[in-house]
Amino acid sequence: MIIGVPKESFPGERRVALVPSVLPNLAKAKMQVVVEAGAGVEAGYPDAVFAEKGAKILPDRRSVFAEADLVTQVLCYGSNDKTGAADLALAKRDQCLVGFLRPLGSREIVQQIAAAGLTSFSVELMPRTTRAQSMDALSSMATVCGYKSVILSAGILPKLFPMLTTAAGTITPARVLIIGVGVAGLQAIATGRRLGAVVSAYDVRPVVKEQVQSLGARFVELAIEAKDAQDARGYATAQGEEFYAKQRELLARVVAESDVVITTAVVPGKKAPVLVTADMVRGMAPGSVLVDLAAERGGNCELTRAEETIQVNGVTIVGDINLASTVPYHASQMYARNLTAFLLLLVKDGQLNINMQDEIVRETLVTRGGEMVHPRVREFFGMPALAAKSA
Ligand code: NAD
Repeated sequence: MIIGVPKESFPGERRVALVPSVLPNLAKAKMQVVVEAGAGVEAGYPDAVFAEKGAKILPDRRSVFAEADLVTQVLCYGSNDKTGAADLALAKRDQCLVGFLRPLGSREIVQQIAAAGLTSFSVELMPRTTRAQSMDALSSMATVCGYKSVILSAGILPKLFPMLTTAAGTITPARVLIIGVGVAGLQAIATGRRLGAVVSAYDVRPVVKEQVQSLGARFVELAIEAKDAQDARGYATAQGEEFYAKQRELLARVVAESDVVITTAVVPGKKAPVLVTADMVRGMAPGSVLVDLAAERGGNCELTRAEETIQVNGVTIVGDINLASTVPYHASQMYARNLTAFLLLLVKDGQLNINMQDEIVRETLVTRGGEMVHPRVREFFGMPALAAKSA
């Protein structure tokens, strides 16, 4: 079984799908890895290190797609809407593709992937179960993003984060507010605390209160309660506009008192809710910073511009969309370990083994045999269910 690692082609992307240290584990399961020359360089993994661990280095992308039975990428076509389409011309029918596919993004793109005959697996659809935890790339990347959002804000804020008692007097600690306490938010809290900030956090799901407190942050209680705040999979549910309006009103004071606001609030398959309005930004002190980790999904702040850093009344609003790529060494290492755990499930003794009885396989398989096969993705795009086939 040949696993291909092309260089990431999304502009500015620095991660790589597999790193040299996972190759021996793959080799044990009879997976040989071919890598496009230079694929790991920007993440800190030169070709020579890949070769030392048994990879075959190929001169170009075309050769990787030509040799591989299964192609691994970080941003596949779908999540790479800028240059990903070119890969369709290189892919072979029945080739496997594993990576971030953004399956609920564009129906047309998912259909193109299906029409190319690819058997594609989306890591975004990995179930959030204990068994799948080692394969959960979404959590790995959210961890990196949460960390980096705080580091970025600390670099921009014209204040120190920690409380300092010096001969020149006492410096009061920075006040950091995290809105949305999923994986990224929890890591942002931990990072803010390590830097010595006073951290508060808010989430629509009341169950996170204890997690927030256990990290030494204050949980912001708002005098509103979301209806069925959490679905069976642990994700936030969408609320009505009336709820969001009330939420903004109650959050305004906390936002105004914060030096740094980091927003991470998203609802799967929906545009991110606007939780910080232009007026709320005007209420913040000049020099304050807002990092909007939901920028790619439309933003939690009304003023966020995706991929840009802007200033409004002295407040800096960061709308970076690919923060995980800015910590490419560890982001790639975590991603590669997640993919390896998944590949060891998919490939048995050098043969692809698509076992539809396995929840992890079933939940992540998006296209196969020319069809979009994932029931939830089909339903999301308003497509009829496929007639049951024995898999
Ligand atoms: P996410 O990226 O989908 O959302 C980020 C956060 O935004 C969530 O905490 C959500 O509640 C919050 N949010 C949404 N709307 C909001 C609003 N209007 N106001 C405030 N906050 C709002 O979340 P995620 O990081 O993917 O985590 C989702 C869930 O999955 C969490 O419960 C997490 O603990 C769980 N999880 C479980 C596993 C596992 O069991 N293996 C792994 C990862 C995550």
